Amino acid sequence: MQHKQTSLIDPFGRRIEYLRLSVTDKCNLRCFYCMPNGFKDFEQPEHWLTFSEITQIVKAFTELGVSRVRLTGGEPLVRKNISTLAQQLTALPGLDDLSLSTNAILLDKQSNKLYDAGVSRINVSLDTLNPERFKAITGGKLQPVLDGLMAAKQAGFSPIKINMVAMKGRNEDEFENMVEFCLQHDFTLRLIETMPMGSTSDEASKHYIDLQSVKQQLANRYTFIPGVMPGGGPARYVQIKNTNLRIGFITPISQHFCASCNRVRLSVNGTLHLCLGQNDKVELRPLLRQGISNAELKTVIIHAIKQKPEKHEFNEKPEQVVRLMSMTGG
Ligand code: SAM
Repeated sequence: MQHKQTSLIDPFGRRIEYLRLSVTDKCNLRCFYCMPNGFKDFEQPEHWLTFSEITQIVKAFTELGVSRVRLTGGEPLVRKNISTLAQQLTALPGLDDLSLSTNAILLDKQSNKLYDAGVSRINVSLDTLNPERFKAITGGKLQPVLDGLMAAKQAGFSPIKINMVAMKGRNEDEFENMVEFCLQHDFTLRLIETMPMGSTSDEASKHYIDLQSVKQQLANRYTFIPGVMPGGGPARYVQIKNTNLRIGFITPISQHFCASCNRVRLSVNGTLHLCLGQNDKVELRPLLRQGISNAELKTVIIHAIKQKPEKHEFNEKPEQVVRLMSMTGG
């Protein structure tokens, strides 16, 4: 896919061409490393950006050259009529690629609508194929996720990427099973290191696994050749020889990729977060509700990008980010 040049360039020369859009901070699962059990401190509905406010912001970003947007959350499919928002966004002339990150619990019923609305790519979080472990990690049931995945495949989504957070003592013996599952269904696998975010930091850190060792473990069983995937994300891919299976390694802790960061994040309340692992932000909601013009909004965004920090400090200051992943938009 040929992307337009973005005019959003941060002080470190990085081109910002990707917006991750959290459409809700609510979730129908409770992954222990993401949202603490019993957590209730959700954003007030009157603070949620409306679909028309979201579209106004995305329009400004696309006019500045951002061509890719990902719907995320919380769990994006719990926001009502999300495919209507998807339709509004894909109608924007500058948007080339609208993708979705989901836990797939509600995907079975929604995948056709999302596909028809122009969502082009889907990532599904799945840390284990064992129903008891799934329950222990997420508090929910595995079967709806598997049904959702099959419905997405049926609807025509391709590629479908499985995001698996690697966790000591939770799923470290399942990487090969997950590889086989992805081979069987023609999914792409992405392994992710746990990151310390908000009040789940200690839990996430306790289960951290350095993915370099997992890569080595898998290389003992499979023959890897270099792999690439469209999408411009942070994963470094290998491909298993003589198969279509690509495995991506997302290593924010053991080998950070900040130098090639091309993204910013918008949370459901209209906060523009400039880095997942820092607190730099700009509040867009008050400006929208005061009737900011499209031209003024673009100026605010250009200035915001100038505040993008150089890198996260998850290793140096793991306590620094007090937001949960579900608030920022993972
Ligand atoms: N609900 C959607 C989903 O499940 O994909 C989108 C939001 S979820 C916050 C996005 C991703 O962030 C998931 O793959 C989840 O596993 C990951 N995640 C959440 N907290 C994390 C943490 N502390 N460290 C690493 N990954 C995390």
